[in-house]
Formats: sequence, structure tokens, C-alpha cells
Amino acid sequence: MTTYIEKLKSQRLKFTPRREAILNYFIKEGRCLTPEDVWNQLKKNFKRIGFPSVYRNLESFEDCGILVKIQREERRLYYALCHSHSNDHHHHIVCVKCGKVEDVDGCALASMGRASGFKVLKHFVQLEGLCPKCV
Ligand SMILES: [Zn+2]
Ligand SMILES: [Zn+2]
Ligand SMILES: [Zn+2]
Repeated sequence: MTTYIEKLKSQRLKFTPRREAILNYFIKEGRCLTPEDVWNQLKKNFKRIGFPSVYRNLESFEDCGILVKIQREERRLYYALCHSHSNDHHHHIVCVKCGKVEDVDGCALASMGRASGFKVLKHFVQLEGLCPKCV
């Protein structure tokens, strides 16, 4: 939790009760969640919370590197916790069965594309597999 609070602070974002509830929900579930999942959970404790507010909070968490966007086959938007302490370039692997997401350190792709003569600026990679519990 302290890592997350520090990441929030580095973007000058306050650790509000709503943000704390969102983080606790992600920690408790241990899998990727849709903005609707988060909204349904928060409505239990914050009666008048609107969906746009939940969505904005998820986006600010993404800006801080606390959450990452995850794409799954049904093409809905998911978010998952990023456990990395630094914001160094890395990728994520998602379990296709239970939705658990882990960080994958390092990246072998930086040199790809060199032969094309392009200067590579970015790439998008998401690994999929089965987590140890689902194998
Ligand atoms: Zn990560
Ligand atoms: Zn799994
Ligand atoms: Zn990479």
C-alpha cells in the first residue's frame, strides 16, 4: 500500500477514502476488473458515487502507474494493479482463466524494428497464459 500512496503523491494526487476503497478492492480481488465492477463495489459504501467519478479515478491511477489497462478477448476494458515499484518499462501477463495479472520484467523488443530504418518510439505487448493456480 505504501508504494501506491507514494505513486499517488508523485502525481500530486491525494489519498482519498474513495481511492483507498478502489485500491483495497483491487488488492482483495487479485485480478483485473472492469470500471463497472469497481463502480458496483464502491456504490455499497459511497451511495451517491457516479460512474464518471470512478472512471476518472481509474484513469488517474493509470497515470501514476498504479493500474494498467488490460485487454481481454471480449474487448471490454479492464484495469489491473501494477506491482512494479519503479515506473521502468515492462509488460504484463494476464491469466486467461482467472484474470490474475503479473508484471513481466525486462523487455526483449527494444531492438526489434531496427532493420526497418525506423526509430522505434513505442510498442504495445500483453502476454496471455495460465497462472500457476489455473494450469
Ligand atoms: Zn506493471
Ligand atoms: Zn489463473
Ligand atoms: Zn517492451
